[in-house]
Amino acid sequence: SEMRNERTKRTKTVCTYCAVGCSFEVWTKDRHILKVEPWHGPANGISTCVKGKFAWGHINSDDRLVKPLLRDGEGFREIEWKEALDIIEHTFKRIKNDHGPDALGFIASSKCTNEESFVMQKLARAVIGTNNVDNCARYCQNPATMGLQRTVGYGGDSGSIADIEKAGLVLIVGANPAENHPVLCTRVKRSHKHRGQRLIVADLRKHEMAERADIFFRPNPSTDAVWMCAVSKYIIDSGLAKIDFINKWVNHFDEFKKSLEPFTMEYAEKITGVPAATLTTVAHEIAAADGTCILFAMGVTQHCGGSDTATALSNLLLVTGNYMRPGAGAYPLRGHNNVQGASDYGSMPNVFSGYQKVDDPDVVAKFEADWGVTLPTTTGKDNHQMMEAILAGTMKSLYIKGEDTITSDSNANFVASALEKLEFFIVQDINFSETCRYADLVLPAAASLEKDGTFTSTERRIQRINKAMEPLGESKADWEIIQLIANRMGGNWNYKHPSEIMDEVARLTPLFAGVSYTRLEGFDSLQWPVHADGTDTPLLFTEGFPFPDKKARFFPIEYIPPSEETSSLYDLHLNNGRLLEHFEQGSMTFRTPGIKEITPNSWLEVSPELAAERGVTSGRYVQVASPHGKVRVQVLVSDRVKGKQLYMTLNSVEEPVNKLTGDFADRQTHTPAFKETAVNMTVLPEQ
Ligand code: SF4
Repeated sequence: SEMRNERTKRTKTVCTYCAVGCSFEVWTKDRHILKVEPWHGPANGISTCVKGKFAWGHINSDDRLVKPLLRDGEGFREIEWKEALDIIEHTFKRIKNDHGPDALGFIASSKCTNEESFVMQKLARAVIGTNNVDNCARYCQNPATMGLQRTVGYGGDSGSIADIEKAGLVLIVGANPAENHPVLCTRVKRSHKHRGQRLIVADLRKHEMAERADIFFRPNPSTDAVWMCAVSKYIIDSGLAKIDFINKWVNHFDEFKKSLEPFTMEYAEKITGVPAATLTTVAHEIAAADGTCILFAMGVTQHCGGSDTATALSNLLLVTGNYMRPGAGAYPLRGHNNVQGASDYGSMPNVFSGYQKVDDPDVVAKFEADWGVTLPTTTGKDNHQMMEAILAGTMKSLYIKGEDTITSDSNANFVASALEKLEFFIVQDINFSETCRYADLVLPAAASLEKDGTFTSTERRIQRINKAMEPLGESKADWEIIQLIANRMGGNWNYKHPSEIMDEVARLTPLFAGVSYTRLEGFDSLQWPVHADGTDTPLLFTEGFPFPDKKARFFPIEYIPPSEETSSLYDLHLNNGRLLEHFEQGSMTFRTPGIKEITPNSWLEVSPELAAERGVTSGRYVQVASPHGKVRVQVLVSDRVKGKQLYMTLNSVEEPVNKLTGDFADRQTHTPAFKETAVNMTVLPEQ
């Protein structure tokens, strides 16, 4: 083995830092990563960004969990796996027996593999007997999925990332792809600069793509649905709508037209603060463009009206015939590497894998026959409802994997009070996260380079990750841990490799009927839907839409103003977002030497106007307070923000922005309204 350790190993894997899905080979010698070499990834060709290339040191971090930890007073002590499983078996059985299966909840991870999402929901449904299973897409992307499912049937990117280059116009709304989806964004920059592609950006903040845009406008917070509806109305009223497309492919046009009556340009100007002349120009640009792609992210989804705004966006694309062709359509830019897959593979309270409903008798009968169990048929609780049930005392146990809930969920103090109340709380992760502090039992999981499986990127592309090294210490792959627990609970599972889990998924899920590991060798990939013969679907809508009559549907919406508006006490609006160098709350990147040094802390962007009014300069510390909590943060005066808009970066472990965010949530999906936070700012004395 001495000899073998000396040998360099090359393993094809997929980046875990965002949902663009760059793939590459990593060169390792033992546990050392020698280099990351992209050479023919389907999404990235030969490029990666700084995170994909360098942010891998965390897998050898001192914070890695290497043994199960059991709560012992204020701290934890290491225990053996056998003892950990004894405790889980005993406690799960007791709680299920005393309070019923719905007293247990399960939260899967959008950083783990598709196969791990599938077995997590199977554990909840088939072994425990509850539909209380969800994943952290609840925090970001569910409203996008909802808006698209309502209108075009599938909640995924309409085409491939490469297709964006074919668009005549790219419209970016509430997304910062230059920092959050860098390799995808490079294509937009290139087409805009060299091929005459038009670029329009709507955002509160003048980020890099806003600076490059042909048209940039800043709608007031939470008003995107209004300008989208007004632009749709203007296009229809001016005779610019694609009537042939609508007649052939879309239902409910008359109802939709009627719903647009309030959305005149005057009304839109009043609500959004964007001049009617600008919106009129935008309407003409979209109507004239040879294909429009709309790229959007959490600036659209994390609002009380997030699902409705995503719906309005899809309605606008339908009005202008921007589906069913390359270089057109909706691109909800997923954040984590496997946000798409975590939901696709069934870790949601209302659907099995492939969005098959838990209350559809035919679907239930199919799963019951295959699994040999009786399944629960009422919709379970989502993340948010689980927190409420814990506080109400009806949910007693929670098992979270790969999710730092305390820093990523809205209103950290509220979540903390729920987690503290749990009778039994298991957290499974690669590092000792903030959420682990609340756990009764912490289970050590393997990192992506230490296991096999698949991820699904933002363009619905399913790709293999391969094991480059053994799990550190006694950590284990998430699917293996879940199988151990399932078998203690009488599950009688026998998966020897994730490929066998995927075979089961394919057998039970029409959307993935033709997915198999043989079709995913090396750099081969498949974009869903994947038919039984193995043909996949780079362009999502080719022969209509996935409804019985193959027609899409206009879905009328109303505008409801944001829940948390500024007041005299909380007079500023706080927005938040990520940084290029970091991943989400920094749980992995802060553990990568070199990355933390570049951008050690989060900061607060303050407009030059507001800075002058309050007498603050860059570098000064301020306290930012909301009705829910407060943080101390350093100021950066910047014209990226305007007036009373503040912007705080997400990458802090010590002072997370979610101490400030509240309980308001999207009406349809319960995704927290992270982007609707009213705060005040107090300048702290100089140190
Ligand atoms: Fe990784 Fe995303 Fe960067 Fe690609 S663009 S290397 S997937 S972080």
